[in-house]
Amino acid sequence: MIETPGIATAQEVAAELRRRSSFVMVSHVKPDGDTLGAGLALGLALKRMGKRVCYFQQDEVPRNLRFLPETELVSRELPPDLPPDALFVFCDMSDPKRAGELLPAVARENALDIDHHLGNALFGKLNFVLERECSTGTVVMHLLRELGAPVDGAIATCILATIMTDTGGFMHSNTTPEALALSGELMRLGADKEKITEEIFLRRRVEATKLLGCVIAAMRFAREGRYCYSYVDDGMLAQTGADGEDTEDMVNTLLGQDGVDAAALFKAIDGELRVSLRSNGSVNVQAAAQRLGGGGHFRAAGLSYDGPLEAAFGAVEAALVAQGL
Ligand code: 5GP
Ligand code: MN
Repeated sequence: MIETPGIATAQEVAAELRRRSSFVMVSHVKPDGDTLGAGLALGLALKRMGKRVCYFQQDEVPRNLRFLPETELVSRELPPDLPPDALFVFCDMSDPKRAGELLPAVARENALDIDHHLGNALFGKLNFVLERECSTGTVVMHLLRELGAPVDGAIATCILATIMTDTGGFMHSNTTPEALALSGELMRLGADKEKITEEIFLRRRVEATKLLGCVIAAMRFAREGRYCYSYVDDGMLAQTGADGEDTEDMVNTLLGQDGVDAAALFKAIDGELRVSLRSNGSVNVQAAAQRLGGGGHFRAAGLSYDGPLEAAFGAVEAALVAQGL
């Protein structure tokens, strides 16, 4: 692999993993199949090497990810007897703040940063950040190879779930030949692709479908139809019985409308305003999100907005326009 300043090599990270005996796999708030699957895959491999592993995640495991192995062990609390030299492995986050405020501050010495986001803050003792990888799980795969860790069906399912999550079920532009080849290899190793498809992509709660109806009814278009946005608020959730988790992929429906280059879904839930941004590749939504304190990828990004919904509509559209929308 080509060496990049600030980015650790797989050998360096593998040596660190071998040296430590206790690990906390950390996933980000509003967890998805990548942050969770990457942590579970590496956690399982480390356990099989005789290491002690626990999983920290501030938010509950989403319903559609509970089929993944070990999710019953995921907790928002750290074990009281955690040794002081435990290594905190941050998966799929460009900033440790994305782990949430419940995680106590972790010294850089005890932080390992494994990610594939653009603009990662390189906050770890070691930063294994490979921006070309389609998922954090495929970054982890490099480590499993370096460690010589056997990949069984459970680990393979976790890694395949990260790939399918972040490629949108092999639909996004990050679906590279390498991602597809690795997915084939993972299936041969026992990854349960059908289960991932069913749980993450096909099954939808009736409440979620009703909420999608509200989101579609509230769609607005701007920039000669190139920008589509909509919102979810507490009233819509109460009316449909849906919850925040049900909003996960709805922004893609907005992006899918004919002629749309960029889309935003504003989620004003429980006094918080979160914005999901998506683009078809003609606008860098990561840069737009970063203007407002958020981040993400070129085609998928997010941010929190401190202010009323109508102000957020204006600020986000302005940020997208500044990025060429
Ligand atoms: P989503 O819209 O699915 O919540 O997020 C899309 C992408 O943007 C994900 O890769 C996610 O990690 C990133 N992202 C979402 N919200 C934030 C945020 O507040 N800060 C940063 N740095 N990245 C975010
Ligand atoms: Mn990811």
